[in-house]
Amino acid sequence: MNNLRDIPSVERLATQLGEPHELAVTAARQAVATRREQVQRGEGPATDLLEEATEVFDRLRSPSLVRALNATGVIVHTNLGRAPLATAAVEAATAVARGYSNLEADLDEGGRGSRQMHVRDLLRELSGAEDALVVNNCAAAVLLAAASMAGGGREIVVSRGQLVEIGGSFRMPEVIEASGARLREVGATNRTRLADYEQAIDEDTGAILRAHPSNFRMLGFTEEVAVEALCGLGVPVIDDIGSGALAEGMPVLGEEPGVRRSVAAGAALVCFSGDKLLGGPQAGILVGAEEAIARARSHPLARPMRIDKLSLAALEATLRLYREPRRAREEIPVLRMLQAPEEELQQHADALADALQAEGVSASVVRSTCAAGGGALPLLELEGPAVDVDPSPFAAAELAQRLRLSDPPLLLRLRHGRVLLEVRTLTDGESVEAARLVADVMREAARDDGSG
Ligand SMILES: *Cc1c(COP(=O)(O)O)cnc(C)c1O
Repeated sequence: MNNLRDIPSVERLATQLGEPHELAVTAARQAVATRREQVQRGEGPATDLLEEATEVFDRLRSPSLVRALNATGVIVHTNLGRAPLATAAVEAATAVARGYSNLEADLDEGGRGSRQMHVRDLLRELSGAEDALVVNNCAAAVLLAAASMAGGGREIVVSRGQLVEIGGSFRMPEVIEASGARLREVGATNRTRLADYEQAIDEDTGAILRAHPSNFRMLGFTEEVAVEALCGLGVPVIDDIGSGALAEGMPVLGEEPGVRRSVAAGAALVCFSGDKLLGGPQAGILVGAEEAIARARSHPLARPMRIDKLSLAALEATLRLYREPRRAREEIPVLRMLQAPEEELQQHADALADALQAEGVSASVVRSTCAAGGGALPLLELEGPAVDVDPSPFAAAELAQRLRLSDPPLLLRLRHGRVLLEVRTLTDGESVEAARLVADVMREAARDDGSG
């Protein structure tokens, strides 16, 4: 087929793609156009035209953002969408997505209400704060806090030890600059004392910002000022605690700054994420003093940062679970994974290894460690069993790549040239799917081997 006349018409090629479909015509048109260009450039046809069109057709019909299986053992995995939602949160978001809702309708009075009314009282109750405001993520919450407390050229005092980059290019000094405030650095990288803050405070000071260093830790000769002491300086304190621990009765969260502690200390604004250790949807939560929240709420940036209704529905449902701490620990996936009992993990790993072996895949249960992820609890190593898979005839990296490209994508861990499936971040049902995907890829390899 190296003649333009030999290329079939778009219509004919489209009908060859199967049942009538609008996208079949689009796919056929694309494939034909590509082929014409190839012929005009004098390039020989590399592949079968129908095959080419089928590939385009499949690509056009399949979504880009899809469910994936997380066998990496990183619980709050930003690349994999952070926190899986609790069933109650999924149901709340689905119900609101399907039809209309009372998002901003005041059902008592019949007029316009605020979307904040659905979570405000819950957040006050759970955090002990006077007031609360939610926006679309914690980065936005920090920017709004800085802009509303010190925008227009006032100063924000920050310890040099906290001028960190959180990830995804969120750098504290740049955020402060973008807010219209001026950064006033105090202390040294490793040590900042209360006196450093005291000396920096003057009539230009809009706020003191304390930023949790998240996935970054300094060891050795270090000193930081506790939030209680900062709040005693008589200047509004913005406390960006990042993940923030709200769950009760979870010793594993001990290293994370608690939301209630910062509120009780008297921070003007405490900022934290909805989809990290809270285990809810993407959201940025501000809790704090009535006056500070009122300033944030009426700042022009609050509107462009507004939370959408699906996230809001999921956030409300998640926060409702926190009212019953035991239920929260059982039903919020992130919390459940953080404290999954050894025995349960062991049974899960045994079942996965057995399922793989039954399919002829060489697999065994080994010891491993999982991480919280999302910049939270960076030093935490959650010990437990994992399933080690012999990747041969593939190299481990190649098996991992094939599994990433499977349907659904399966993401796992590489360790010492082997492939590890962490069961902590898989549900039982997902684990059955994961075994099938691994077995399928291995069978394909055996087939390729046999035919080649
Ligand atoms: C993660 C994090 C943020 C950003 O939160 P997002 O919800 O991802 O926008 C801000 N500050 C700290 C300390 C964080 O850990």
